Amino acid sequence: MRRWAPALAVLIGGGSALALYDVVGTVPTLVILLLQAVAARRLMHVDPQQRAVSRLDRAQELIEGHLGAETKTFEVAMAQLMDRYDQAQRRLQRNLDLRDAIFEYAPGGVVFTGVGGWVKAVNQGMRQLMPVVPNPVGKRVRSAIVHRELAATMERAVAEGQPVLAECAAGRFEILIRAAPVGDHGACIAVVVDVSPLKHAAQARSDFVANVSHELRTPITSIRGYAETLMDMPGSLDEEHVLMLGAIDRNARRLTTIFEDLLELARIEAREGELELVATPLAPLLQEVAASFEHSAQARRVDLVTVCDENIAARLHQQAFDRILGNLVANAIKFAPAKTAVRLTARDDGEQVLVEVHDSGPGIAPKYHERVFERFFRLDKGRARSQGGSGLGLSLVKHLCQATGSQVGVRSNPGHGSVFWVRFPR
Ligand code: ADP
Repeated sequence: MRRWAPALAVLIGGGSALALYDVVGTVPTLVILLLQAVAARRLMHVDPQQRAVSRLDRAQELIEGHLGAETKTFEVAMAQLMDRYDQAQRRLQRNLDLRDAIFEYAPGGVVFTGVGGWVKAVNQGMRQLMPVVPNPVGKRVRSAIVHRELAATMERAVAEGQPVLAECAAGRFEILIRAAPVGDHGACIAVVVDVSPLKHAAQARSDFVANVSHELRTPITSIRGYAETLMDMPGSLDEEHVLMLGAIDRNARRLTTIFEDLLELARIEAREGELELVATPLAPLLQEVAASFEHSAQARRVDLVTVCDENIAARLHQQAFDRILGNLVANAIKFAPAKTAVRLTARDDGEQVLVEVHDSGPGIAPKYHERVFERFFRLDKGRARSQGGSGLGLSLVKHLCQATGSQVGVRSNPGHGSVFWVRFPR
């Protein structure tokens, strides 16, 4: 309490006593003065220590109230956090269960190796495709799974840092192995699929086509023979009959071409991957192909030009090469306008040898670039038939390329001619 406070209290008290005495008389005035004195005393004589204590009490109350609220918020936040943690854990567990189920019941074999090539997991499917030792986890693939190609494919995938495909046999199964590195530290996953049913279906289709083609070849040869004999009998037929016989002969020839191409396709499919490749200089081969088409090029008034360095060589199967180039050149001559040139070029780009056949024909829209290699696909059906094509030429080319480790494609646009290219290994 400040020093001037008691004086102020007496002043207030005295002033008010006089006023009260005037108004209410002696006794009430004395009572009121007594009460005023008690209040003044309380004001003047509160212990400073007591006031400090009560201030502290008040502060404590405030702090407790505040902390209480904070604690409550904290508890709620913790409860929410735990809730979310539980949910995340349940979700994680569900995903792990799903992964395990996919791994275990995948339609095929799956093996996963960690760093260093130690087996981490093998699924049930793998055990059905090839022998797996009991407790394979922790062993090397070679000793855990009895199949040399599998271990070799996984090692290649890790060494090359990219997925590797291998097709081979595993006992009575034809299998496809796809191995892929996982991360950069040598871990790897391999999936093994049984492709025997697909192989058998493809084989059955190929055999069927080959058999039908073979069976039909004989009656057609006979039809052609009779047609030719009749046409060779001078004077016995009128003009209309000669025309009819001409049509019979032409169509019989077309059928022969189709059946021969189908047989050839079946033969290539059966030998895919078995054709032996030999490093061969290209210039003489291109000259030979050009020479064999010189006659048909002249007939269509088309120039046939070859451009190839003497020292260029490629790994190829010569018969397959003749057939591939022969088909491409025959098409180029067929589609090239008169008085234009068909160019056969070869160049070595350091990695592969690129052989191209250029023509200035009608060209092919980009959306058909893949499709022209399908069996019986023709852009202009009427024109193709009238020119005697079987619709199988480019399909044959594609299969021959696949069988001999080369690739084929086309660069072309309508009105700008076409360039059919083949990449051969060096
Ligand atoms: P076809 O016996 O009909 O020639 P192909 O398989 O050799 O069969 O060719 C398929 C189709 O691709 C042809 O019908 C034609 O429409 C198109 N084609 C092939 N070569 C050329 C080319 N050089 N220029 C334009 N179109 C072509």
